[in-house]
Amino acid sequence: MASTNLILLGPPGAGKGTHAQYLERELGVVHISTGDMLREAVAEGTALGNKAQEYMKAGQLVPDELVIELAKERLGKRDCPVGWLLDGFPRTIAQAEALSAIVDELQMPSPLAVNMVISEAEVVRRLSGRRMCRNCGTIFNLHRDNIDVGDPCPTCGGEIYIRSDDRPEAVRERLRVYQRQTEPLIDYYQQQAQLITVDVEGKQEEVSQHLLAAVRSKDVKRG
Ligand code: AMP
Repeated sequence: MASTNLILLGPPGAGKGTHAQYLERELGVVHISTGDMLREAVAEGTALGNKAQEYMKAGQLVPDELVIELAKERLGKRDCPVGWLLDGFPRTIAQAEALSAIVDELQMPSPLAVNMVISEAEVVRRLSGRRMCRNCGTIFNLHRDNIDVGDPCPTCGGEIYIRSDDRPEAVRERLRVYQRQTEPLIDYYQQQAQLITVDVEGKQEEVSQHLLAAVRSKDVKRG
């Protein structure tokens, strides 16, 4: 079977990062998160990081040309032909069109987009409890895992922190940005018959398994 290439589409707080970690292990694909790459660039103080920082803090999108370049460079790396899973890219129609051109140029199978459906109330609840490890990047939730700032990361002992864009004002802005700029991608991939829709509001382990089964069954149909 051809390699599996996936796009996770969903509002902030849908669980893209968490489920991506599971799908990466189960499918043996490379997990590519533009958000993680940008946060790394900010932490390292690179030119890209300096340009991206203010947009990220405000919960706005980093300009298309910067993110497209980042994704293009990453997808051209040697580990990508086994299959990949994009988490947080594309987020605009311009990015989706650029991705399609990159995939053609690299002669990769076209990606399947997964539309992760969740209510706004649940998104707000989840984001207000999100905690992350600064060292290994594992995502926790205060309500679910009872892990908070000041506790050591159970995975690696690293420092637990709250992302600056998980503050309430930034969360509201990110949701507006998602509705305005990213939601149109659902139609875009639907029109190409490259979309599956999965309800992601249930328990994490069950949702992960459900996502995996949905991807596998669509992949078999596509051959
Ligand atoms: P995420 O971790 O995916 O929620 O991304 C965190 C932040 O990084 C977003 O709120 C944006 O500011 C920026 N970002 C990540 N991916 C993209 C993208 N594809 N296009 C524009 N900005 C992005």
